[in-house]
Amino acid sequence: MATSSPSTKSSLQVGQTDSFATRHIGPSPEEIKQMLELLGLSSLDELIEKTIPQAIRISRPLQLPTAQSEYTALANLKEIASKNQIFRSFIGMGYSDCITPPVILRNILENPGWYTAYTPYQAEIAQGRLEALLNFQTMIIELTGLEIANASLLDEATAAAEAMTLSYGVSKNKAKAFFVSQDCHPQTIEVVQTRAYPLGIEVIVGNHENFAFDQPIFGALLQYPATDGTIYDYRKFIEQAHKVGALVTVAADILSLTLLTPPGEFGADIAVGNTQRFGVPLGYGGPHAAYFATKEEFKRQVPGRIVGVSKDANGKPALRLALQTREQHIRREKATSNICTAQVLLAVIASMYAVYHGAAGIKRIAGNIHQLTNLLAEGLKQLGYKITGEYFFDTIRVDLGSRSLTEILQAAEVQQINLRVFDDKSVGISLDETTTIKDLQDIWQIFALGEDLPFNAAEFVGVIHECVGVIHELPLHIPNSLTRNSNYLTHPVFNQYHSETELLRYLHRLQAKDLSLTTSMIPLGSCTMKLNSTAEMIPVTWAEFGKIHPFAPLSQTRGYQVMFQQLEEWLAEITGFAAVSLQPNAGSQGEYAGLLVIREYHENRGENHRNVCLIPQSAHGTNPASAVMCGLKVVPINCDEQGNIDVADLKNKAEKHSKELAALMVTYPSTHGVFESEIKDICEIVHSHGGQVYMDGANMNAQVGLCRPGDFGADVCHLNLHKTFCIPHGGGGPGMGPIAVSSHLAPFLPSHSVVKMGEQTGIGAVSAAPWGSSSILPISWMYIAMMGGEGLTEATKVAILNANYMARRLQDYYPVLYKGNNGFVAHECILDLRSLKKSAAIEVDDIAKRLMDYGFHAPTVSWPVAGTVMVEPTESESKAELDRFCDAMIAIRQEIAEIETGKVDAENNVLKNAPHTAETLITDDWNRPYSRTQAAYPAPWLKEYKYWPPVSRIDNAFGDRNFVCSCLPMSAYNE
Ligand SMILES: *Cc1c(COP(=O)(O)O)cnc(C)c1O
Repeated sequence: MATSSPSTKSSLQVGQTDSFATRHIGPSPEEIKQMLELLGLSSLDELIEKTIPQAIRISRPLQLPTAQSEYTALANLKEIASKNQIFRSFIGMGYSDCITPPVILRNILENPGWYTAYTPYQAEIAQGRLEALLNFQTMIIELTGLEIANASLLDEATAAAEAMTLSYGVSKNKAKAFFVSQDCHPQTIEVVQTRAYPLGIEVIVGNHENFAFDQPIFGALLQYPATDGTIYDYRKFIEQAHKVGALVTVAADILSLTLLTPPGEFGADIAVGNTQRFGVPLGYGGPHAAYFATKEEFKRQVPGRIVGVSKDANGKPALRLALQTREQHIRREKATSNICTAQVLLAVIASMYAVYHGAAGIKRIAGNIHQLTNLLAEGLKQLGYKITGEYFFDTIRVDLGSRSLTEILQAAEVQQINLRVFDDKSVGISLDETTTIKDLQDIWQIFALGEDLPFNAAEFVGVIHECVGVIHELPLHIPNSLTRNSNYLTHPVFNQYHSETELLRYLHRLQAKDLSLTTSMIPLGSCTMKLNSTAEMIPVTWAEFGKIHPFAPLSQTRGYQVMFQQLEEWLAEITGFAAVSLQPNAGSQGEYAGLLVIREYHENRGENHRNVCLIPQSAHGTNPASAVMCGLKVVPINCDEQGNIDVADLKNKAEKHSKELAALMVTYPSTHGVFESEIKDICEIVHSHGGQVYMDGANMNAQVGLCRPGDFGADVCHLNLHKTFCIPHGGGGPGMGPIAVSSHLAPFLPSHSVVKMGEQTGIGAVSAAPWGSSSILPISWMYIAMMGGEGLTEATKVAILNANYMARRLQDYYPVLYKGNNGFVAHECILDLRSLKKSAAIEVDDIAKRLMDYGFHAPTVSWPVAGTVMVEPTESESKAELDRFCDAMIAIRQEIAEIETGKVDAENNVLKNAPHTAETLITDDWNRPYSRTQAAYPAPWLKEYKYWPPVSRIDNAFGDRNFVCSCLPMSAYNE
């Protein structure tokens, strides 16, 4: 055996720990030195001194636990997770346990090829997830019987609230009241109430069976089946509602619609719901994809994103996000909704569940559950219980008669079973895909309260067991008038991938069409596409986190509580705030919640006339959209030539609106990629007029460990955990947008009526689940635990270094639009491409599409300044990758120069024709004025590895003129 050299030996020390930070941070210490050299700097600290105003830098290191290795952090989190108890939950209320098909679990949910992609703004390199989303929409359209559907919303409760505001917007009857059936899930009612309040909408919670329509309403919300399981025929109600000009929304259980008449067939205008039970783990509340379906006439008012069919430059069908002009980033304060990040990854999983099972498979699952519920009810009747409601799908309400609720619950506890308690006289039981005969026996035992069962369970079950799966042979507890007769999931995609081999290849084929972080950097400014490490992702699919119902008793979720508390403490330390709410499940929702908190604060002080929200023109579209949802009036603030807030304009407007000033919303560092030195003064101006400062924390990746919003004057901020804190974007969700607040705002943080949390003075629930999308919080926990305070701070410094390195390498080719006082940018930079339009007729889009030929995703396009791109490399990209991207951009600049000199045609060139697909290149009649090599292999690394865009440039306008948002017949592809 070889002996080690003395030098190696002496460098070995006991107790040296493995550092995750060195793997999270892309550039090595040697590379950092080289990059600093290019910038003419001697150290990272010098860079920070020249970038972040002295006045706001923190003077002490972050007080966080010491960094743990991946192995140790996983072990520690496992220990915390094991404090959660996994009971069988028959609680229902819109959440059902289910089986994630293993092929989908491993190849989508646990697969970075799917979860690290961004929202499909660059549609040509996102055809895979766009197809999966189109399948999702098709599934929703067919199951609900409505005409159009979007590509997911955040949860059922917020989807219902969105339905309310859509109805409010389009109803012509001028009413100000919204009827909500008392049979809706309680968390849905609460979120709708929270949303209605600041808009001055009155919510009438009542009994749909005797509502007399004696008060004008613009809309109504019904639950189908009702929260206690009862199936009502809503036709009469809907008829009456339509007579008074009101729109009706039906919140429907997606699985029940395989057996029940869909809402679209009995007159509903909108259907919303949760698709969680299609293969997505409970996860203590999320993430799950909500759906939203409606009539085509409302397509311009639909919240969220819609995938639509269009065609590419060769006339081939191609997908992209449709009707983009509806969305908040264009319509701003006139937007119909503030939704940005939604639940794409979970929508993809739900759609694949339908692809995996097909119509027959899903109907079989629904049939099984229904028959088990029948069986359960029969047994309980034999035990002397009354089942309320003649008709049900999977949920029954059991009348306890003279039995004691306490005894029933004690017996359930022994069996580790959760039931739903309605009141001390009745409980609910909701069955799901995982329910077995054994579960029924256990439930009967509970209700027998120690007595022997009066029937032979095995025999009783035996008779019926034979029939399970053959649902026609048993009487259904579904009224004839509501039995589904129409077909669904008839498209080939739901019928041809039922062997695992076929499905695996389909999933892989779609994945291969998309460009994710597994291919190359995605330098989207403001989106912070950093590493989502595997160690961070692993806990997400642990059963201890996944198999827990959001309304399980707190005694069973101690592990979650420990994790929440630690994460809240860490985030409070990082932001310099006193308290954190983990409820909002996207940045947009954090903005909304934070502004509501501010509103509530003013109201509490008798200042509810404060309704003006100042927002700089450079703000993200979600800001004005959120302000309007809170009933605030948006007053825009100008930006100066350096891209900073025009402080004089701010002063004027704050003075002018002094009496009504509610808040300023400000992004820091600004969306222009600069640390404004005046931020402290800006906060003071607002405070001096009695306003509060809301900081949009999307750019927190430039602050962690270096400065804290709580210190420099903000009162509340949200954090996009799917940006700064490593939750992957999932192709457009999930995300988490917790808010952090100063102590004077803490009493107003979100509360929840089902799981008691927050204070009496809280704003109510803003999400269906008390801690939002709980099951992805371990990702951020792992990140902070593995980085420690020092690692996080180093990451921020390197994020700023990477951005400055790129800015410096590119500035001779593309002007950097804004810089700070010392000539440095923050963690991102804007490259100005506007002059190229004049000099070469080149648009930003041409460069974005040409980057695809080089194997890259474009930076953020035309935001916050039209005609520019915003580049954000993050700390996770190595110098080699930054150089590769810069080389691509420089090479493209040379291609543009050839147009400028007239050497190359201005219309027919590599940029205008980009991206180039293999199909267009491998043709017998190549007749373009450039070579195929120039088109497809313009850089040396492409010979090593080439990502091929699957379609050519997509015609966006065509798709909006010919709106289609469900799967095309196969014949469309054969032409
Ligand atoms: C991403 C972003 C948002 C919206 O956050 P979501 O999580 O997508 O809802 C808001 N503001 C800025 C500046 C952002 O970059």
